Amino acid sequence: MPLIELTGIERVFTLGGSAVHALAGFDLVVEAGEFVAVMGASGSGKSTLLNLLGLLDRPDAGTYRLADRDVTTLSADEQARVRRERIGFVFQSFHLVPRLSAAENIGLPLMLAGIDPAERARRVARALEDVGLANRADHRPDQLSGGQRQRVAIARATIMQPALILADEPTGNLDRATGEEVVRLLETLNAGGVTLLMVTHDAALGARARRRVVLQDGRKIRDEPV
Ligand code: ADP
Ligand code: MG
Repeated sequence: MPLIELTGIERVFTLGGSAVHALAGFDLVVEAGEFVAVMGASGSGKSTLLNLLGLLDRPDAGTYRLADRDVTTLSADEQARVRRERIGFVFQSFHLVPRLSAAENIGLPLMLAGIDPAERARRVARALEDVGLANRADHRPDQLSGGQRQRVAIARATIMQPALILADEPTGNLDRATGEEVVRLLETLNAGGVTLLMVTHDAALGARARRRVVLQDGRKIRDEPV
């Protein structure tokens, strides 16, 4: 049973009277534990794809099965629950809450899931250690470097131990060395069994995945082992 099964996905945006097929006739099967690089020119549909996979958006047609369950037809509340329990998202611009500390940002999903404060504190402390930020727990995002912010975002994305991590250009705002560290962290998670889909423009980073899916104008034009 694959973790992800997209069949006949269509996503059309209408803007100023003209329609953009952000995804068209899109099929994709991903097995649990894979590391897939999603590549393609700007505007080819990569973020649209990740947003659909992350249940942040709905397709106009087609079905999405996640762990053998049709998640396309779930209510917004049910989708939010699936997202919280199974999916971690890492964005190019980190999307941390500015007024919260690193520890509070990481603990947010636990709080939303109703985990009690003592257990929360334990898990956040361990997550901070795992991403090498034990000594930055009380820093706010504006008191952290870009690479540190992205590591906080990764810790937040993984604190619920999701089956799937979706990373949309996670190194796009980082210099090469820092980006390298972030990818290494994602690779470590994948080695631990988490399924990883990473959008990247960077061919060298894309080559670190074991499979490459290339989009063009909302269609999949290549899908090959790396
Ligand atoms: P990528 O991430 O590969 O750069 P996107 O998935 O963001 O591409 O966008 C694919 C296409 O869909 C682009 O032509 C973009 O302009 C269009 N698009 C994406 N989101 C929207 C939106 N919310 N409204 C209108 N058009 C959109
Ligand atoms: Mg994008």
